[in-house]
Amino acid sequence: MQKRQILDSQQLEITLSRLSQQLIENHDTFQDSVMLGLQPRGVFLAERLKQRIRQMNKTEVPLGYLDATFYRDDFRRRETPLKPNATNVPFIIEDKNVILIDDVLFTGRTVRAALDAMTAFGRPRKVELLILIDRKYSRDLPIEPNYIGKPVDSIFSQRVLVQWKEQGNTEDSIWLMN
Ligand code: 5GP
Ligand code: MG
Repeated sequence: MQKRQILDSQQLEITLSRLSQQLIENHDTFQDSVMLGLQPRGVFLAERLKQRIRQMNKTEVPLGYLDATFYRDDFRRRETPLKPNATNVPFIIEDKNVILIDDVLFTGRTVRAALDAMTAFGRPRKVELLILIDRKYSRDLPIEPNYIGKPVDSIFSQRVLVQWKEQGNTEDSIWLMN
């Protein structure tokens, strides 16, 4: 298997710092804003961004974890059953500006399901999408991120490997696997 590094830990630091700045630029004090990390792996990214915004802006952004498994349109079509993760949204999103956060965007189906899953917690004023790695030109649905860490050209058989320190890796790093 061939692999090519997309971002090393230092480059990822710069990208996370830029994404945090963009969020602060658009959401100011985050008074009416909340973040929702998509389970399972969008949560690592969301926690990192929350921590950075705390350091840079002295602001505590409410962060929930959203699992969209049961809302997927392919939920009953999988050969191996999908295992759901915990949803933990300890606030209402009624009239809030919601920032949906995930590690990789591919067909857009997970985000579509997340938009459905979110409606259980209220009707947001506005929803934005933040993605670390955008596998562009791969969408099945008209879904595009508002904030992109890095766009990547990839074909269907390739896979992006996102390794976080939180998962026991010695360093953060992101790879494109052939
Ligand atoms: P989509 O639903 O847009 O096809 O896929 C996005 C979801 O599947 C995301 O939650 C993401 O975590 C996962 N995903 C899709 N493609 C990849 C990939 O190449 N690498 C990783 N790490 N996750 C992916
Ligand atoms: Mg995922």
